Amino acid sequence: MQAANYDYIIVGGGIIGLSFAYHLIREGRSVLLLEKDSPPVSASVRNFGQIVPSGFGPTFQKFGRRSTEIYLQLRDDAGLPVRQQGSIYIASDEEEGQLLIEMNHLNVKNGYYSDILTPEDCLDIYPDLHPEYAHAALFYPSEIQVDPVATNAALLKYLQSYQNFQYRPDQAVVKVRSNRFGVHGKTSSGFRFSGDKMLICNGSDYQLLYPGEFDNDDLSLVKLQMLEVSTSTQVMIPGSVLTGWSIRRYECFENCPSYTAIKAQEDKSNYQHQNGVHILFKQKENGNIIIGDSHHYANIADRSTLGYELDEALNDFMLSEALKIFNLPGVKVVKSWAGFYSQMKDKPYFYKEVDENIHIITAIGGKGMTASFGFTEHLLETKINI
Ligand SMILES: Cc1cc2nc3c(=O)[nH]c(=O)nc-3n(C[C@H](O)[C@H](O)[C@H](O)COP(=O)(O)OP(=O)(O)OC[C@H]3O[C@@H](n4cnc5c(N)ncnc54)[C@H](O)[C@@H]3O)c2cc1C
Repeated sequence: MQAANYDYIIVGGGIIGLSFAYHLIREGRSVLLLEKDSPPVSASVRNFGQIVPSGFGPTFQKFGRRSTEIYLQLRDDAGLPVRQQGSIYIASDEEEGQLLIEMNHLNVKNGYYSDILTPEDCLDIYPDLHPEYAHAALFYPSEIQVDPVATNAALLKYLQSYQNFQYRPDQAVVKVRSNRFGVHGKTSSGFRFSGDKMLICNGSDYQLLYPGEFDNDDLSLVKLQMLEVSTSTQVMIPGSVLTGWSIRRYECFENCPSYTAIKAQEDKSNYQHQNGVHILFKQKENGNIIIGDSHHYANIADRSTLGYELDEALNDFMLSEALKIFNLPGVKVVKSWAGFYSQMKDKPYFYKEVDENIHIITAIGGKGMTASFGFTEHLLETKINI
C-alpha cells in the first residue's frame, strides 16, 4: 500500500520523535510517524519521568525549562498526567552542602528560582527521611514529574487528534532513498511511504538505517538499572528527589567554584563509582517508589558487552543505599529493569544531515525526557528548515 506524500516522515516514536511531531503539526505540516514497536519499549518509557532542568548546563537547562512550559500546557489542554511537586537535591555532607549554596547563587544569576532548605525543612516535607542523612537541600518548586508510559501514550493521543498527523506502529523503517523530489522508503512489512523530509530519531537502534553513521567512537551506549519498590505503610516522597551522589555527578554543579576540588578528593575506584551509581527517588501515583540508577558504558561497536541481564548485587547495593536515605517500612522490590540510552562523549547530542532531506537526531543521553520539547523546537528553528 502506498501512503500519501507527507511534509515530514519521522522515524521513531520516542520522546524526541514525539516532540518533533508536536511542533510540526502545530505549524500545519503533515507528519507520518513510524515506530517499529507497538507499544514503544525504549528509553522514553523506561525512565524515571523526572523533568529536571536544574540538573543541566545552561543550554539544556533552557531547553528543559521550555519543555516544562509545554508539558504544563499539555496538561491543561490534553490532560497529560503531569505533577508539579518540585525537585529537591539533598546533601549528605558539608561538601555537597557547599555545592548547593554555590548552585543557589548561580541560579539567581540565571533567573531560575531555587531555595536552600535546612534539615528541619527537609524533615517537614519528607517525614521518612533519615535525619542523619540530610545536611541541607536545594529545592526547585517549579519542576515537574511525569509518568513516562502514560505521558507518551497521552501525547500520542493528543497528536492523533490532529488531521495532519498519522501514526503507524509496528513499522520498522529499513530502506530509504532520497533525491531532489524528496524521500521514499519502505518498512520491514512492506509499507511504502514518501515525504519531503525525514527526521530519524532512532534512539539506540543503530542497525536499521545508516549503520555506518554510528560506527563512531564518540558515541556510547549506556545501560542503567532501575527498581520499583512497594512499602507496607504509606511513605510520602513527593517530587523528584536527588541525593548526595547526584550532586557530585550532575552537569550543572560543574560550574560551581568548589566542584573541581571536591571531585579531586573522591575515591574513583570504589564500587559506587565503578558502577556509576547515584540514588534518585520518584514516587508513582500508586505510592510505589522508583529507585535508581547505575551506569555502564560501551562504545557502539562493543555494545553487546553490556549484556541483557540485571546484576542483582547491584540492585541490592542501590536498595541498601536508598534505605540509608529514607525509611521504607516493609520494602519489597516489585519490578526491576534495565534501560539503555545513547550519548556522545564530547557533545550534548548526535546530529547528522545525511543530505538536504534527511536528518538524524539521537544520543541526547539522560536529558531526553526533560529537554526534548525545547531541544527539538531549537533544532527546527536552527538546523532543520521548516
Ligand atoms: C533508566 C532511564 C532513566 C532515565 N531517566 C530520565 C529522567 O528521569 N529524566 C530525563 O530527562 N531523562 C531520563 N532518561 C533519558 C531519556 O529517557 C532519554 O534521553 C530519551 O528517552 C531518549 O529518547 P529518544 O526518542 O532519543 O529515544 P528512544 O526512547 O530510544 O526512542 C527511539 C524510538 O525509535 C524507534 N526506532 C528506532 N529505529 C527505528 C526504525 N528504523 N524504524 C522504526 N522505529 C525505529 C525505537 O523503537 C524507539 O521507540 C532516562 C533514561 C533511562 C534509560
